[in-house]
Amino acid sequence: MGSISPAFEHIFRSKLPDIDIPDHLPLHDYCFAKLPDIADRPCLIDGPTATVYSYADVHLFSRRTAAGLRRLGVGQGDVIMILLPNSPAFAFAFLGASFLGAMSTTANPFYTTPEVHKQAKASEARLVITESSHVHKVKDLAVEIVVVDDPVPAEGCRSFADLLSADEKEEELPIVKINPDDAVALPYSSGTTGLPKGVMLTHRSLVTSVAQQVDGENPNLYFDKEDVLLCVLPLFHIYSLNSVLLCGLRAGSTIVMMRKFELAKMMELVEKYKVTVAPFVPPIVVEMAKSEAVDAYDLSSVRMVMSGAAPMGKELQDTLTAKLPNAMFGQGYGMTEAGPVLSMCLAFAKKPFEYKSGSCGTVVRNAELKIIDPVTGASLLRNQHGEICIRGSQIMKGYLNDPEATERTIDIDGWLHTGDIGYVDDDDEIYIVDRLKELIKYKGFQVAPAELEALLITHPMIASAAVVPNNDDLCGELPVAFVVLSDSCEITEDEIKQYVSKQVIFYKRIHRVYFVEAIPKSPSGKILRKDLRARLASM
Ligand code: AMP
Repeated sequence: MGSISPAFEHIFRSKLPDIDIPDHLPLHDYCFAKLPDIADRPCLIDGPTATVYSYADVHLFSRRTAAGLRRLGVGQGDVIMILLPNSPAFAFAFLGASFLGAMSTTANPFYTTPEVHKQAKASEARLVITESSHVHKVKDLAVEIVVVDDPVPAEGCRSFADLLSADEKEEELPIVKINPDDAVALPYSSGTTGLPKGVMLTHRSLVTSVAQQVDGENPNLYFDKEDVLLCVLPLFHIYSLNSVLLCGLRAGSTIVMMRKFELAKMMELVEKYKVTVAPFVPPIVVEMAKSEAVDAYDLSSVRMVMSGAAPMGKELQDTLTAKLPNAMFGQGYGMTEAGPVLSMCLAFAKKPFEYKSGSCGTVVRNAELKIIDPVTGASLLRNQHGEICIRGSQIMKGYLNDPEATERTIDIDGWLHTGDIGYVDDDDEIYIVDRLKELIKYKGFQVAPAELEALLITHPMIASAAVVPNNDDLCGELPVAFVVLSDSCEITEDEIKQYVSKQVIFYKRIHRVYFVEAIPKSPSGKILRKDLRARLASM
């Protein structure tokens, strides 16, 4: 990483100057750096219960969680799994693990049992923190189970309240010497190809990424301590974990947590707590844009709406902007492996720059971005479409236990290849126009075609299968399958759909099945997904 780029490469950088980033600090120390000044300010508000935790509370409870985890045998370099909806306990668990030098692998609590098992085993998690309604998914794993919502949990489980009940002495954590290049977060992502993999985000990656968003002299690109952030996007996804929780802590903002998205409840919270910053994904923007009920709430406190994780066109962006006249509306572009933020809208800067609706903003500070020809690898000029690559200390260290996949994604010069096709315009603004990689995005959630294909061929009547995205106005993309049946077998579309839906979370369900004679493949056996997408488009 960090080698000098050859002179012929066309590298794009932020319009803002680079800043000094204290990337030697452990993530928790960096996030709590302003604690003495803001100890009494509200840090987390649990929307459903209205419980308020000050910065001092969050710091204390995170350290107590660390002490509690240590009592249960979690040490430096270990992995814990956080299987929780948004809640203060999520934050305490993540920060507690960070204090110990441990890593958190985060997963959707609504995953099915096989999905949870796959990630828990692959990440070698030794402890799971979850709610009582999800214990059945992890009880067969040979791990400690900590339950956050029941002081007297089921046999064999521990209660989170016990973890938090450390006495003064136990709060004195042993001094853990954390190397900035140690991983602290381990979200799962399929990246450009194949099955979901553990993305090792280090203390340095996340400190750098947060600093790129909220530190610096042209201050508060995103927000500051006067801001109230809405945390409706799930913290198990790195977008919310980084750009809401960690950025919010670093900036000293107040973070209002919702367990899940419900339009009316969200509007109530925005009105009640005078939310100023609302990080969204396009499906939430669609619902808000369509809903007349939104107009009944006083949303005048909202000064900034951001959207990321999936494409959003100019028209939709403009429709919501009209509903929230006090708000600046901009997009960011992220990818788990990139830390995740590659670019963001500079309208958010305190001294805003001109920006265009529909763009994903400009590359973050202290980073380099280039667009390459996907075939030749040559770097391209402005307005030319190609694969977006990013370089900087914020990107992942690599995939856990998967050096081949890491090498396919980060080249020897340190460039992370995103698998996204886009371009940079004359004003340095980035537009994403297509996806080279297999990934399907349903309302911003990842669906890995390889995972569904592997599942489909476990059916005795299916000889081979390919899964590709079909465009959808509300969800962005829906997974659809092309299936070749084994000789003389008969099975209906519905039976196949049910077979899959029993084993996967709702957004990975197959929406259509097309029976075909053969799956188009390249001579090397790769599925020709482009051909299948073209076939879909022509139907
Ligand atoms: P994830 O790793 O789950 O965050 O997914 C990353 C992928 O989501 C990116 O590589 C893009 O394909 C897509 N994505 C993220 N943000 C945007 C955006 N603003 N516009 C279009 N696609 C996006």
